[in-house]
Amino acid sequence: MTRPNLDPPAPPALDPEHFRRLAHEAVDLVADYLASIRTRPVFRPMAPEARAALVQEPLGGAGAGPEAILERFRTAILPHAMGNGHPRFFGWVNSPPAPIGIVADFLAAALNPSCAGGDHAAIYVERAAVRWLMELIGFPTEGSMGLLASGGSAATLIALAAARHRAAREDGWDVRREGLQRSRPPLVLYVSSEGHSCIQKAAELLGLGAELLRTVAVDGDRRMDPRALRAAVVADRAAGLRPFCVAASAGTVSTGTIDPLDELADLGAAERLWLHVDGAYGAVGAAVPSHRARYAGLARADSVALDPHKWLLVPVECGAVLVRDGRLLRETFSLVPAYLRTEPDRGVGGLPWYSEYGIQQTRGFRALKLWMTLQHLGRDGVRDTVARHLALAAHLGQLVDTAPDLERLAAVELSIVCFRYVPGHLRGDESALDALNKRLMEEVQASGRAFLTQATLGGRFALRACVLHYATTEADLAALVDVVRETGARLAGS
Ligand SMILES: *Cc1c(COP(=O)(O)O)cnc(C)c1O
Repeated sequence: MTRPNLDPPAPPALDPEHFRRLAHEAVDLVADYLASIRTRPVFRPMAPEARAALVQEPLGGAGAGPEAILERFRTAILPHAMGNGHPRFFGWVNSPPAPIGIVADFLAAALNPSCAGGDHAAIYVERAAVRWLMELIGFPTEGSMGLLASGGSAATLIALAAARHRAAREDGWDVRREGLQRSRPPLVLYVSSEGHSCIQKAAELLGLGAELLRTVAVDGDRRMDPRALRAAVVADRAAGLRPFCVAASAGTVSTGTIDPLDELADLGAAERLWLHVDGAYGAVGAAVPSHRARYAGLARADSVALDPHKWLLVPVECGAVLVRDGRLLRETFSLVPAYLRTEPDRGVGGLPWYSEYGIQQTRGFRALKLWMTLQHLGRDGVRDTVARHLALAAHLGQLVDTAPDLERLAAVELSIVCFRYVPGHLRGDESALDALNKRLMEEVQASGRAFLTQATLGGRFALRACVLHYATTEADLAALVDVVRETGARLAGS
């Protein structure tokens, strides 16, 4: 038997000077990419061979040189980016990364701490960055707790777990011990028809069942109707169910609509409902003075989900959950016996561990990219960036309104504009318009000239443009309108 080689391995080790050269090469590549992004197509569909080459690539036996791997990235991956780095990308809710956030991700990976807890800088950076989020949107910082998560979906799951825990506790039982296996009055969660699918996903995962996820009617502006909510709660309670939570939206994903949070907070207080606000996309709009009034009531929410990886331009993944009652959040997740818990004001244990407040044990240093991006922007920069996007979206709404062959399909509340192409001869033919606009969207996407996605509004297919790029200009909006109209005219043969 030969003796295994016990010498330090290379790879993965890299000689420090080699690492320096490699990392500099990567930086040059990224800098060139950022500098040339406007000259590139927004999106480039992949050829079947290019897809297969990636999917089916075998892992070689012998390791490859780092330079060759970087070159593979440059040729096989970079040209097929998702597109959200481009100022003419208006798809979904995917922002470009703030350049300083790109640097931060590199630095965070270099330190590679686990942010489960402990006494190291990353923990305190997360405390500060999350507090800044609270301050930006006017959420209480005293007694509350927040932590970073992968995104709005994970944030929602954490928040609704806390809501479920509180409801059981109010009723004198412990959902952590019992689960939902015994016959307790079924818990009912309320969401509007415009609520994000992650709320249903969380309800399913928490054992609440999609069946008892009540869809509350919306008014003509797509806002949750508090009277309909109250009626549903009263009916459910009379039927022996336990209404426990309403998940409202501060910026729906389709149209950016903000529910009447103040009224919902009143109702929540009167009806013992936990008010969760899904602000994954829209919560940061509260940082803009001209829009703040629309968010009245946000400060009274029991929990908020907010995605810095959307409007705050922090590279994915970076979501945040904010919970007004920090002790309750800890009670929902902590598995540390009371005698081992660290308390900020006692002993040398430092702050309570983040792993007591959520799902993850090992946690990445997401906070660094948030901390660095927010510092680069400053409070004024956050406000001005968001305000600029609001103004650009309003401008796009006007361009749509003045084009004879475009029809706006929803009010422009935040930075989302929903519209469609309507050639004169198809006016009134709804199914033909749906089909035409769907093809139009696909062709615009494939053209590389701009990128937008879709929404379904009142059963109709809508083109949906979400403005989130810091470099987008009015000219980019005009270009988007041009490519939509040109493509529409070509497809409609008019
Ligand atoms: C994006 C989004 C979510 C889901 O968040 P992820 O970060 O994708 O998990 C939830 N609600 C709204 C309104 C969103 O825009």
